[in-house]
Amino acid sequence: MKKFRKIAIYGKGGIGKSTTTQNTVAGLVEMGKNVLVVGCDPKADSTRLLLGGLAQKTVLDTLREEGEDVEIDDVIKLGYSGTRCVESGGPEPGVGCAGRGIITSINLLEQLGAWDEKYETDYTFYDVLGDVVCGGFAMPIRDGKAEEIYIVVSGEMMAMYAANNICKGIQKYAQNGSVRLGGLICNSRKVDNEAAMIQELARQLGTQMIHFVPRDNMVQHAEINRKTVIEYAPEHPQADEYRALAKAIDQNTMFVIPTPLPMDALEKLLIDFGIAN
Ligand code: ADP
Ligand code: MG
Repeated sequence: MKKFRKIAIYGKGGIGKSTTTQNTVAGLVEMGKNVLVVGCDPKADSTRLLLGGLAQKTVLDTLREEGEDVEIDDVIKLGYSGTRCVESGGPEPGVGCAGRGIITSINLLEQLGAWDEKYETDYTFYDVLGDVVCGGFAMPIRDGKAEEIYIVVSGEMMAMYAANNICKGIQKYAQNGSVRLGGLICNSRKVDNEAAMIQELARQLGTQMIHFVPRDNMVQHAEINRKTVIEYAPEHPQADEYRALAKAIDQNTMFVIPTPLPMDALEKLLIDFGIAN
């Protein structure tokens, strides 16, 4: 079978994982790549911008309603330029393990032949929930379903703290598996010295800042129209930022086992860079 890249996007809740993933996917699709996106958040909003609206049914909904008699078209919907989109779904908040839903979905997709030769898949993206690397949330990397991780981060302390924690998880699973960190994606919150600070964080983690995505209101304009920026405003500079990120990921050759920072080093970074001069 043709080798394809299996990418998981991690980062603190609300940091921009789903937005960045879908816009990057749109960039890769423009480059002629075939992409499958698997949303792993019970919110089921990982494919909204590619599908032009929320997915009608998640994999878990479909399994609940149709039992075992599921067909591939019931769970994979076609979105922007032929992107294939799946939402795993999950338990109601506070009930059950969200990670199990992800594994159920991935197993079902495998059974249904979602990666069959005929699809000529170049990329699978897993848009993973939140920043918790323990337990169920680490499923895609624990089971080797995803091999390449990008962490979305900003110069805000909690986002950097989450990124460092995620690196601890990657380090743990990387020792016995093939999962590697491909880089940090800085999704700007317009913090002082943000690019330099995230570059330094990346350096200390043993990785790279693969791209700096500016904060831009065009993201909201596109979002309200249920589109990626690339689809909604293809000429806008923000669309080019996502194209640059897509290209950087496509050409990336730096895959590492990260070295998480001790707490005091993380705080020093914030003090050194975070205070405007
Ligand atoms: P996550 O999936 O990590 O929880 P989302 O992708 O849903 O986060 O992003 C949260 C919100 O942040 C989105 O609704 C979007 O409007 C906004 N956002 C994300 N990235 C940007 C950006 N680069 N510029 C402006 N707004 C952004
Ligand atoms: Mg999300």
